[in-house]
Amino acid sequence: MSNSISTSRFTCTLCTRSRSYKTKCGLQRHETIKHKEHNILPSHILPLPNYELDHVKKVIVWEIQKRLKKHHRTVGNQVFSLHCSENAFVGIFGKYLTRYSPCGNFYQCHFSGDNSYNILTNIFNDAMWGERDYGNGQLSWVKLVDEMNCNSRTELYIE
Ligand SMILES: [Zn+2]
Repeated sequence: MSNSISTSRFTCTLCTRSRSYKTKCGLQRHETIKHKEHNILPSHILPLPNYELDHVKKVIVWEIQKRLKKHHRTVGNQVFSLHCSENAFVGIFGKYLTRYSPCGNFYQCHFSGDNSYNILTNIFNDAMWGERDYGNGQLSWVKLVDEMNCNSRTELYIE
């Protein structure tokens, strides 16, 4: 009979030289410091048909527009979440990922600055994605804030 201590370690799959950590937290911390710009897609992503991606895009636009209220008191940052598959998220935003974390299995992409509205127009294939017209000259719209000028930004995040 042998007393064995658990030797399972969390290994960084991004480092060429093997680095492993006692805890998942340790590995996540390492990834955040050393690989925060890693945005290469994992191999398990499967392509989805366009009609499925189009459906998710419509749901996202609908969720954005629902948050465009007509009262000035609702001005400010908005956060929402919705369920979609990893394949769908990557299918829609894969070209614009700023980070993929193999350890945490999450993706990030940021849209900020002048051209971001147009990029999202192309992604959603909908020029009106960030506007809601209440009639009588009342229009609510999405404002993407430049990261250089402000700490806030539009961030899409899947976990
Ligand atoms: Zn590493």
